[in-house]
Amino acid sequence: MSTRDTEGRRFRVQSLKEYLQKQKQIEQQLRESEECYRNLLEFSPEPIAVHQKGRVVYINPAGLRLMGSDSKEEIIGRPILDFVHPGYRDVVAERVRKIEKNETVEILEEKLIRSDGQVIDIEVLPVRITYMGEPAVLLICRDITERKRVEQALRERDANYRIIEQHMTDLIGVLDIHGIVTYISPSYQTILGDPPEYCMGKFLFEKVHPEDLPRAKRLFHEMIRTKTPRQAELRYKHADGHWITMEANGAPVIEENGEVSKIVFVARDITERKRTEELLRKADKLSLVGELAAGVAHEIRNPLTALKGFVQLLQAKAENHPDYKPEYFEIMLSELDRIHFIVNEFMLLAKPQVSNFQPKDIRILMQHVVALLTTQAIMNDVQIRTEFESDIPLVTCEENQLKQVFVNILKNAIEAMPNGGDLMIQMKMYSSEKVLIRFVDQGCGIPEELIPKLGNPFFTTKEQGTGLGLMVCYKIIETHQGCIHISSEKDKGTTVDIILPVHVREVRE
Ligand code: ADP
Ligand code: MG
Repeated sequence: MSTRDTEGRRFRVQSLKEYLQKQKQIEQQLRESEECYRNLLEFSPEPIAVHQKGRVVYINPAGLRLMGSDSKEEIIGRPILDFVHPGYRDVVAERVRKIEKNETVEILEEKLIRSDGQVIDIEVLPVRITYMGEPAVLLICRDITERKRVEQALRERDANYRIIEQHMTDLIGVLDIHGIVTYISPSYQTILGDPPEYCMGKFLFEKVHPEDLPRAKRLFHEMIRTKTPRQAELRYKHADGHWITMEANGAPVIEENGEVSKIVFVARDITERKRTEELLRKADKLSLVGELAAGVAHEIRNPLTALKGFVQLLQAKAENHPDYKPEYFEIMLSELDRIHFIVNEFMLLAKPQVSNFQPKDIRILMQHVVALLTTQAIMNDVQIRTEFESDIPLVTCEENQLKQVFVNILKNAIEAMPNGGDLMIQMKMYSSEKVLIRFVDQGCGIPEELIPKLGNPFFTTKEQGTGLGLMVCYKIIETHQGCIHISSEKDKGTTVDIILPVHVREVRE
């Protein structure tokens, strides 16, 4: 007897008995391996199903659990797309077509409708197999609802963080224990001018004011050593070079091993607050000086008049004396004038404010002052130019006081330009209710560190100065509900801005 092997070669079997035995053996082996596969499918913790010609033909117990069903009959025989969420049916159908054409497909995340109607997220890997002699698709699934939920929660948390991050005006940062920036919030840009990436990976203390640096470093190391938070007020350099005062709160992050791994800090720009505090202090000082002046000025002014009168009298008599030196008298008289001038400036502060506020055209007022100072300006080779907007409303003011302010500021500007230059006076609307008066000179300027001192009584850098001019200006402008702002660059010039509220006309019905 002869038969063919799988490749069609002819071979002889020794006997029928032997042949049948072989056949039985093969069947046995097949049964065993089939059982093995079945067990594998049945006991797999992964949900597995098979579909053929679009219908479910097999599902394992884990699959049933995933479907929320307890009988195979409920599932088997039904179209596979019944279980797919409508939003995914097209994709799934397309994938089935691909598999049938023997193309490989990747794992897909999709949504499944359980028997109870609940929608869950799953991950599916389809594999082409032969089932009962026909082509079929084996689906290996995984429930990823929980993972999705966590992902979603994380995404929401991230989005929340981003909102906080982007809308927070405070600066938040994270440093490693060497002071290197590992995170900084976007507000870095609004507060300090540079994009946040600029300071990432850099030593945070690089831009701390040199005077504040030792303290900043000491507090930083203390935080790491004592594992307790610290607070500090520091000046930090803005991208355009000026100093920002920051109030910073730092806290160490302590790891499970008890060591500090990083420092988290929140900082806030308090430059404006500091300036207001400074102004308040100045105002306090002013009222104190004012009170003092009230007492002192009267006591000086009266004897002064007598002294001056008698000196003039003496001079007239002494002219005939052989030792007569006119310059002695000139010096005495000019010194007396100087005392008189200082006392008068004082009196302005001290005078009880019987106010005589009237609506005035400040352009005319300014022109008077300019006329008064033109001679002094010409002597110093200073050109005064004016630029006034045409429709400046009236300002409620005490004419003489406001003139005094303009005189003081113009004098300072002229004195700041010993070698001449341009002095520009501008007047324009600052807002619908405020007018801006700006004085721009090309003088010596004021060093940045001295700017806060302006307006302090007796602060002067001039040999002949009194240091009262600006103080008087601040005081007067304050009583006019206005404000003064001085900005300056050394050797470039100074800009003094005065902002005053304009006269509000009473509306009659
Ligand atoms: P004084 O003029 O008597 O010194 P002020 O109060 O008028 O007193 O001014 C105080 C100081 O402010 C001046 O000594 C000067 O250092 C500075 N200052 C004021 N205005 C200017 C200016 N336009 N340019 C440069 N420095 C100025
Ligand atoms: Mg002055």
